[in-house]
Amino acid sequence: MLARLTHITTLLIMILMNVNRGIHWTARLLVAALALTGCSAATNPSTPTTGTITVIASAYPLQFLTQRIVGDAGTVTNLTQPGQEPHDLELSAQQIADMSTSDAVVYIPGFQTAVDEAIKTSPPKMSIDVAAGIDRLVANADGSESPATPGQDQSSLDPHIWLSPKDMITMANTISTQLSTENPALASTFAANTTKLVADLTNLDADFSAGLASCQRTEFVTSHAAFAYLAKAYGLAQIPIAGLDPTQEPTAARIAEVQKLAKQYGVTTIFFETLVSPAVAQSIAGDLHLKTAVLDPIEGITSESAGTNYLEVMNANLTALQEANGCS
Ligand SMILES: [Zn+2]
Repeated sequence: MLARLTHITTLLIMILMNVNRGIHWTARLLVAALALTGCSAATNPSTPTTGTITVIASAYPLQFLTQRIVGDAGTVTNLTQPGQEPHDLELSAQQIADMSTSDAVVYIPGFQTAVDEAIKTSPPKMSIDVAAGIDRLVANADGSESPATPGQDQSSLDPHIWLSPKDMITMANTISTQLSTENPALASTFAANTTKLVADLTNLDADFSAGLASCQRTEFVTSHAAFAYLAKAYGLAQIPIAGLDPTQEPTAARIAEVQKLAKQYGVTTIFFETLVSPAVAQSIAGDLHLKTAVLDPIEGITSESAGTNYLEVMNANLTALQEANGCS
């Protein structure tokens, strides 16, 4: 250690002596001195050196999956800003340009019109449809949902596939497989990261299955129709106040219908969300003397969210559903 310090001192003296020879030479000596002290930012040999891919996700849940899969091997960004409602996303010219030069765009066709159009008009190197292989649902006029028929117009499909942990596993594998096909040098990195991600999602799915297996009631009232895939996966029934798009105001007739159903099923809680005004939910709850609570459709993470990532907020959603529905 003493020898090393002596060496560094010698180097520093050399730096001072060489100041007049120019900054460039001085900088090189500084780098040498830092390397000797172990302060170097030199690359760790275990990190991938090809970690340069850029991937753009269209909304938070897709960003969550892609970030976990890509890890240190690249950069993942989200087109939807934190706190922004993703359904009515508008894209800037810069975002559209970034999409066309990225290595991949991860999206759900039919969810965000602006994203679908940008992919059509200025195609990225690769667009990953995460809904591929998932059994899709369509909303009926009464707020219930039924299986989509093959070839159904994508804009009529319920996009909220990320609220089913089971479907998230399918989505993770789709992203991993497609990124690996285009970037074979990184395939082993993606596969290792995906294994860990799928393990987390499998645990979450098991917690939901066990936690919702024995409840006093299966019906739950939500702010907008975001939870049909979750309901289907765990034997629950969603009663949505608003439709698939939270920006569309519910009609007076729909509010009256929800109140009637809430009474009929003995619902205890009217759920609202973090990114949309709770006014309608609070009004319905007030009229019926019910509780309100957050059931988060995880369309974005903000300081209001009950967790810092998808897994944490889903755990909070599970607790909220168990309390509202009297699950043991
Ligand atoms: Zn939504």
